[in-house]
Parts: sequence; C-alpha cells; structure tokens
Amino acid sequence: MEPKSWYHKGLRFKCTQCGNCCKNHGEYTYVSLSEVELQAIPKFLGISRREFLSRYCEKVPGHHPTLRMDQPACPFLNAEGRCDIYPVRPKQCQTWPFWTENLVEETWKGPVKECCPGIDEGPLTPADEVERIARETDEWYGG
Ligand code: SF4
Ligand code: SF4
Repeated sequence: MEPKSWYHKGLRFKCTQCGNCCKNHGEYTYVSLSEVELQAIPKFLGISRREFLSRYCEKVPGHHPTLRMDQPACPFLNAEGRCDIYPVRPKQCQTWPFWTENLVEETWKGPVKECCPGIDEGPLTPADEVERIARETDEWYGG
C-alpha cells in the first residue's frame, strides 16, 4: 500500500480575486505558453503571433515561451486587478494552485500560501482531483 500523501484529505482553495498570483514573485513567476495558447492569445488580442511574442513573451532556449514578467505584474493584469485575456488565459493560470511543484508540503505551506490568500480557504478539493488537475497541467505543457 502506498503511503498517504500529506494532502490525502484534500486541499482547500477559494480565489479571492486579489490578483497577487499575477504579480512578479521572482522565481515563482513563470507562466508558460503552449502551442495552443500561442495561437489563441494573439488571435484574441487581434495581433500577429510575431507581435505577441515580441511584446509580451520571453523565450528561454529549450523551453516553452513564457509571459514577460519583467514588470511588477503580468502585462495582462489590468488596473482593476482582472485578467485582460481571461477567456484564453494560459492553462497554468487556470489550474493554479494545483500544480505538481506546489504539492510539496513545504512549498504549499510556504511560498504558495504566502502568495495566495485563497490557500486553505473555501471548499475542499479531494486529493485525486488535485492530482488530476496537476497531471493535466503537466501534460498540457508536454511534461
Ligand atoms: S493569489 Fe490566490 S486568491 Fe489571489 S487572485 Fe491569485 S489565486 Fe486568487
Ligand atoms: S494571463 Fe491573466 S491570469 Fe495569467 S498571470 Fe496574466 S493576468 Fe494573471
């Protein structure tokens, strides 16, 4: 029998829409863009892929492009604290905080909780659903 994970009773999360996760947090800031997103976001914005890449993205060799986070926040976080590309926002933005790298107890209870006031609040998501979301996110980016 496999040992139970630290979150075997599930994890609580409810977004307060504070917008903090869309701000620059140094090493926890990367938002990766899959091929689907590299097509959908420029189309939504009515600009070319080339313009989208040069204005809004950073390219690290051997990795997916990421959203440019060299400013205090994501370029799509608007003055009201909302996402300007919400209908086509990247998978990572949809599935936060249930990412594989966040399911390490020290990470969840440390930097993830410090960043996000919705952690340990609201409804309980069962452990198998948490893991399904984390797996789906990894697979989306080819992990
Ligand atoms: S930091 Fe957490 S609570 Fe705030 S907007 Fe992001 S997910 Fe929602
Ligand atoms: S794309 Fe939208 S949801 Fe994702 S980090 Fe930027 S503002 Fe936040």
